[in-house]
Amino acid sequence: MLWEELNWAEFEKLVPGTYDTAILPVGTIEAHGVSPLGTDNLIPMEMARRLAGDLKAIIAPPVNHGITSSLLGYPGSLTVSSATFEKYMTEILVSIAACRFDKIVVLNGHGGQIEQLGRAAKEAWNLKRVKITVVHWWVCCDDIVEKIYGRGGGHAATDENAAVQAIRPDLIKADLYSDDMVFNQPGGFTSYPNPGTILAYKEGAGFIDFDQKKAEQYFEAAVERVKSHLLDIFKRWERL
Ligand SMILES: [Zn+2]
Repeated sequence: MLWEELNWAEFEKLVPGTYDTAILPVGTIEAHGVSPLGTDNLIPMEMARRLAGDLKAIIAPPVNHGITSSLLGYPGSLTVSSATFEKYMTEILVSIAACRFDKIVVLNGHGGQIEQLGRAAKEAWNLKRVKITVVHWWVCCDDIVEKIYGRGGGHAATDENAAVQAIRPDLIKADLYSDDMVFNQPGGFTSYPNPGTILAYKEGAGFIDFDQKKAEQYFEAAVERVKSHLLDIFKRWERL
């Protein structure tokens, strides 16, 4: 169920009651190795589509512009400032709550805005007493990439690339890839612009093999993982 496709009179009948949960996909536009600039938007949007039925949720219009920092030097990357993003997100969450939702799931696709989303969620909870959980999907799926690929993931790396390949294989530019594109960030260094767009955080991690079956297996497992955590949180929230 997409919010944007509903008429207001339909919305009035459905919320609250039939639908008490809104999913808000959030990302940014930034360079991602051999996957598209919109990778961080594409993944949470598709995840939202796959989760919406079981969560009895309406998918809110996504926020596709986020905070891009170390990769802003790469062509086509876009950003807004941290303060603007946090304020905008807070106001969007408050506005969603005002439409009489009981719960909001913020489905985040980008690691550079975790703190801002946390503060925005807390502020909206304080102001409207709407239950909010912010999900950084890849973080709770670390063990899944290890299990399927036998190595860790990273930015635009094994796991994130697999998610895009599962959703839109036509957008993956495998012919542009070579293993030396994977930049293993040395401890103790922070660089602007980041020397790589495929980023691994430990030795041997991040490499991409472009196997379609494994990519689909990974993304399905990731969706299931996120779903099971959300259903558990919803259950625990019932008394509140
Ligand atoms: Zn990303």
